[in-house]
This record gives sequence, structure tokens and C-alpha cells, in this order.
Amino acid sequence: LTSHSPLCCSARRYATQEAHASGQATEKHEFQAETRMLLDIVAKSLYSEQEVFLRELISNASDALEKLRYIQLTSEEKLSVEGDHNYEIRVNTDNKARTLVIQDTGIGMTKQELIDCLGTIARSGSKEFMQRLADAKSSSTDSIIGQFGVGFYSAFMVADSVQVTTRSCRPGSPGYLWTSDGTGSYEISERDDVPTGTTITLHLKAGDAAEFSNEDRVKAVIDKYSSFVTVPIMVNGTRV
Ligand code: ADP
Ligand code: MG
Repeated sequence: LTSHSPLCCSARRYATQEAHASGQATEKHEFQAETRMLLDIVAKSLYSEQEVFLRELISNASDALEKLRYIQLTSEEKLSVEGDHNYEIRVNTDNKARTLVIQDTGIGMTKQELIDCLGTIARSGSKEFMQRLADAKSSSTDSIIGQFGVGFYSAFMVADSVQVTTRSCRPGSPGYLWTSDGTGSYEISERDDVPTGTTITLHLKAGDAAEFSNEDRVKAVIDKYSSFVTVPIMVNGTRV
């Protein structure tokens, strides 16, 4: 838990694109080749239990809260956490906008962590997934997704655009916006007024995936998969 994320980053910054009105540049990064392959498979997957994406995102939120608590309990390191800080996961649905938002008040990510963790396949589960995939026929892709899970990238099973805003609790860390449509690249820009922790906004695909902007559907999935989560989970402001 205390170790830094693996520095396996092969994502390259190849362009600094247009500047925002705020004067902050948007950097475009390419996904690592292996990640691109994984994303391509995930996006095209007809996996019938799409709902597992929510288990993955909530478990990441829960991990981020646990990491924060662990550092606070075991280290002298001063973290920048608001005085009235609550350890919780907030899920918000908006069926008109067709969005699902998963927010945590956990450890957050630095820019380097965004690049290393969301741009490359660092987790062992995904590596094993890719290995199995290489060995298997394409027809069994879905069962392999189900077996191994694909972590954060599973968001692209249901979303055609994912937005992550995050700010690390390490003192002085700026906030960032990470966006991607899950194809070749992602963009990162610095943002003011980002609270510590991480907020993931899924712009859901039209069709079946749109059901995940429905409060009752989301609550049912949380009930099914998230009994292991010890921090409170709020759905549209109410604890589930
Ligand atoms: P795993 O959880 O197995 O490491 P994931 O693909 O689910 O793999 O997540 C990759 C990494 O991205 C995590 O290990 C973590 O470092 C980072 N991450 C993902 N979601 C969050 C979050 N909500 N807060 C902080 N870090 C996160
Ligand atoms: Mg995970």
C-alpha cells in the first residue's frame, strides 16, 4: 500500500495542444500499445454482465480511501485533507444527461500516477487477461473478461467517454482533468478547484448501457457486489 505505483509508463507525451481559457495546456498522451488493445477489446465486448464495471470502479474508490487512511495512521507524512473530511463514496446518476458519476474522498492521483495507472496496464490481473486472450480464441473473450475483470478500463464497456478529475492528498498537488474516449489517446490538463480524491464521470453509450444512469438499477448493482466495501456509499445523496 505504501509503495509507489509501478513505473512502467511507456505513454509518450507527443503534443501539447491548445490552451484553455484558464491558460492551462491540454496534453495529449498515447495509450501504451497493450492498453490500446485491451481497450479495443473491452469497448467491443458484448459481455453480458456489463454491470461488473461498477464493482471495479467502487473497489478502486474503496482502495483509494483505504490508502488514505493507512497513510494517515502509519506515517508522519502530512497530507492535505479538509478538516470536515468524510471517508465516503458518492454515486450520482443523471438519466437525462445519461451520466453516472463515482466520486471518492480518497488519496487521489498525482499527474504521474494518472499517466502510470490509467495509461498503462500495471495491474497484474490485466496482464494475465492479455496473456489468456493471446492464448484463446476470440469467441471466448467475454468469459475471459468475466473471469479476470479489467479494472478501470471496464468503464469503457458502458461509456464512450470517461472523465476523471482528481487531486492527490500529497501537499501542494494540483488538480487534474483526464479525459478519453477509450481509443488511441487520452488528455490531461491541470484544473483549479478540484477537491482531493477522485471523481469519475461516465458518459454512457446509447442502448443497454444507458440503464446505468437509472438510480434503481445502480442501487441494485451496488447491493449485489459491494458488500465488501466498509465506507459509506451514497447514491444521489442517500446512503445505501
Ligand atoms: P487495480 O485496482 O487492480 O490496481 P485498476 O485498473 O482498477 O487496477 O486501477 C489501476 C490503478 O489506477 C489503481 O491501482 C490506482 O493506482 C489507480 N486508481 C484507479 N482508480 C482510482 C481512484 N478512484 N483513486 C485513486 N487511484 C485510482
Ligand atoms: Mg481496481
